Amino acid sequence: MPAEQQDTPHYWAIIDALPVAVLLKDTAKPQIYANQQARRLLGLPEPVLNLSDIRLIELTEPDSEELLSLVQNPLLLALSGSVVHQQVRLAGSKQRLQLSSQLVQLSFTLSNSVLVALIPEQGKDAIRDSQRSVYDENELEEALAFDKLMSLISAELINVQPEQLDIHIEDALSALGEFCHADRSYVFLFSDDMQTMSNTHEWVRDGIASHKANLQQVPEAALPYFWRVMQSDFIFAVRDVALLPDEANAEQQEFEREDIQSVLCSAMTNQDKLLGFVGCDMVARKRAWTASDIRRLKLVGNMIGNTIQNVNYRLSLKQMQQELMQANLELQELASRDGLTGIANRRQFDTLLQHELQRCARYQLPLGLLLADIDHFKQYNDSYGHLAGDDALKQVAKTLSQTLKRQGELVARYGGEEFAMLVPVSNAEELTQLAETLRTGIEQLHQEDQFSPAQRLTISIGATLVKPDKTTNTSELIRQADTALYQAKAQGRNCFCIFQPDNQPG
Ligand code: GH3
Ligand code: MG
Ligand code: MG
Repeated sequence: MPAEQQDTPHYWAIIDALPVAVLLKDTAKPQIYANQQARRLLGLPEPVLNLSDIRLIELTEPDSEELLSLVQNPLLLALSGSVVHQQVRLAGSKQRLQLSSQLVQLSFTLSNSVLVALIPEQGKDAIRDSQRSVYDENELEEALAFDKLMSLISAELINVQPEQLDIHIEDALSALGEFCHADRSYVFLFSDDMQTMSNTHEWVRDGIASHKANLQQVPEAALPYFWRVMQSDFIFAVRDVALLPDEANAEQQEFEREDIQSVLCSAMTNQDKLLGFVGCDMVARKRAWTASDIRRLKLVGNMIGNTIQNVNYRLSLKQMQQELMQANLELQELASRDGLTGIANRRQFDTLLQHELQRCARYQLPLGLLLADIDHFKQYNDSYGHLAGDDALKQVAKTLSQTLKRQGELVARYGGEEFAMLVPVSNAEELTQLAETLRTGIEQLHQEDQFSPAQRLTISIGATLVKPDKTTNTSELIRQADTALYQAKAQGRNCFCIFQPDNQPG
């Protein structure tokens, strides 16, 4: 027979006989005992329960239909060792119940027990009295001051910059420590794989030792009982660490090493996933944690947990945004380049031509446009092969771009063996000179072409020089340069022609 069942019958009978509804829990054991009155009142089928059965009992505030959340559930708080005095109603019932809990040392158990009584309220006076007992005046003032401070801190946390996060978390921990009369307060975060936990932030009262440096990457195996309780109950409340059960031997040693007498930790979660926890230690003396302590701890835990999540989301969004922008730039760059020669492609040329045309029109500047075409290139390909043709195209692209490197100059592969160039020249002489430099540049490559009259690779160039206004359009400009190129080809190739409006063919 399991040990926990052997000692139960002695007191079950006594408690069953009580005229009030009572729940009893040995702090060192998981089971909860509900006496006959409690079973009747709460509709419980069995006398031996666990916390998950209690979670199913729906409670509301005395004057509201709204269900209390699990975080506020006074039954759970009481059973986890807090001292609770609170009025509640069972969902769907009009009857108000006074819920009172206390820690008791029963002679027949080794550890402490929590006794929770649920007493139906009689009249209005009793209700008023019990409400008064929830907080005395000092407590009320303290609660108000704490809530005010938290709303200030949380307002600052809403848009906190990542580099200021630590300072704000430490502020919140110091407020928590002071208001819970603790000696230490802290945040631990679990690693993503839930294998270890690390103490990330800490506040200590003057004269109290810090242990943060020694509490980094603590493995689950070092504190197994704590991990288990945290994962199942999301709260770890110990009034006296000396009364921890045998299975918490590792925890007891660790708490002794840190001089901890009482400890209270509450989980930080995100959609039921444990992120870490906030906690308070008592070093100088013990503390029976109150419902207010737990409420404060949960509040600070939620606030810090949400802020850390928020900052992490913002950081990863920012990083994602930067990566996207970079990828976009690279794509844009790729989409504007010609794959073979690496210079701008026709798409890019069309965009920039449009842009330059508008700019020159606005500032009344002249603009030169050149079209160059490799002479007898079909024959070159046929004679030397397509790969050699590709090499020749690369050479021509390189030579043209090396010549046109000044601000505002642009060389693009316009298609096939044709190149388009933009040059901000101020008159026809300059344009002619530049075209001549380009033409001779290719000629001087001395790229053999035994089938061409020049015996080497050459280009013909057609150009136009305009002073654009708002009505000038890009296709007209291209048409003019193309006409001049046609003339250069007609004149025997390896030469340059500039467009003359009155000298058009046809
Ligand atoms: P023209 O002097 O009148 O310009 O004569 P052409 O032979 O250069 O003119 P045509 O338009 O008849 O031939 C152009 C050739 O350019 C045909 C094509 O094989 C070649 N060509 C176009 N694009 C490429 C390319 O990407 N790689 C290679 N190797 N050849 C190309
Ligand atoms: Mg051509
Ligand atoms: Mg050609």
